[in-house]
Amino acid sequence: MTIHAEVRCPACGRIFPADRPIWRCDCGGHLNLEPGPGLRRSDIVRGDASLWRYRAALALKSPPTVSLGEGWTPLVTRHWDGVSVQFKLESQMPTGSFKDRGTALMLNHLLEVGVGPVHEDSSGNAGSSLATYAAAAGLSCRIYVPAAAPRGKIVQIAASGAEVYLVPGTRQAVTDAALAAIGESFYASHNWHPFFIEGTKTLAYELWEQLGFAVPDNILVPTGYGSNILGLDRGFDELLRRGEIARMPRLFAVQAENCAAFAAAWAAGAPDYVPFTPGPTIADGIATVKPVRAAEVLSALRRSGGGVAAVPENEIPPALQALGGLGLFVEPTAATAAAALSRLIRDGTIRPEDTTVVVLTGHGLKATDKIAELLGFG
Ligand SMILES: [Zn+2]
Repeated sequence: MTIHAEVRCPACGRIFPADRPIWRCDCGGHLNLEPGPGLRRSDIVRGDASLWRYRAALALKSPPTVSLGEGWTPLVTRHWDGVSVQFKLESQMPTGSFKDRGTALMLNHLLEVGVGPVHEDSSGNAGSSLATYAAAAGLSCRIYVPAAAPRGKIVQIAASGAEVYLVPGTRQAVTDAALAAIGESFYASHNWHPFFIEGTKTLAYELWEQLGFAVPDNILVPTGYGSNILGLDRGFDELLRRGEIARMPRLFAVQAENCAAFAAAWAAGAPDYVPFTPGPTIADGIATVKPVRAAEVLSALRRSGGGVAAVPENEIPPALQALGGLGLFVEPTAATAAAALSRLIRDGTIRPEDTTVVVLTGHGLKATDKIAELLGFG
C-alpha cells in the first residue's frame, strides 16, 4: 500500500496532501480523494476474508493497525415478488451495519496521519461504528445522537466506552452540537471525511468478485447522505478505468418518501440539492435533510442510468416482515430497499432476467424497540 493520496476541494479546486487529519477545506467545501488506481483480479488477497483483501487499491500508506474483520459479507439469493434477487448482508458487519467499511478506512487513515480524541454526530449506526473502532484503537470518543434514536444503537455506543450525548430535536440539531465541539477533538465525520467513501468503495469490489467478476444490472441502496452510492460509483469506476469491467451497474438510491432529499431533487430534474419539507419516518438511518455531496450523488445516479425510489411509510413494515420471513432480519431503514424493489419490479424498471442486488445496510437487532412497535408486539 504505497498510494500517494491527495484530496481535492470541488468548490475551490484546492488540493491537499492527505497527510494530516482534516475533514473539510478552508473554504468550507467538502474534500474528495482523486480516483484510485483500481484493482486487477490478481491483486486480490484471496486468503483474507475481509475488505482488506483489496488492500492494493486502498489509499493507505501501510497495513491497517485496527481491524475487526470488516467486509466480505454474505451475498445470498432469495426470491422476491417472483424474481430472483441477491441480498447483500451488510447487516453482518462487526457492528451490524455497512458503516464499518468507511469507518475502518477513515480511522486507519487518521491513525496514520496522527489523530487524538475523535467525535462525530450520527443517526446511530455510524456513531456505534466509530465508537467501536475508536475503542479498538484506544482513542477516546464522543458521539452525538438524536434523543429519539433506536435504543439498540445508543446502548451499543455506550457499551464501547464512548461518551454519548443525546440531542433533542432534529437531526440537524445533532450535527450542530457536533460542529460546536470542534476544537475539543477531531470531527471524524463519516458524512464529510473522504476516506469514509474510500472504504465504502470496497462494496463495489466485493459484489464484482462475489458475482464471479461480473457487474450486476441493478443495485438498490437505502440512501441518506449517499456514501454507499458514492462508494459504489467510485469502486466500479476504478474497475472500469482499469479495464476489468466494461460497464457500470444502474444505481438506485432508496429513500423514505417522508424525508427524501434526493427524490425531491430528482423530481425537479435539479443537478443539486433543492429545499424540501422533511417529515418523520421509521427509517431513521436515512432521514437526512441536507446531504453533503448532493450534486455528486445525483450525478452518479444519472450516469449509472438508475435513479431514486421513494417509498411511503406504510410499505416499510410489510417489507421488513417479508424479509424476516426469508431469514433476513433487518432494521426499518434497510427494509426500505426491499419495499422499493417491489415498486421497481411492478413498474417494469427491473426485469426478472436482470441481476439485481439489494443492499441490506443494518441489522434488526439495532432497532428492536421500533420493530416491536411495527409488529404490534410488546
Ligand atoms: Zn475549498
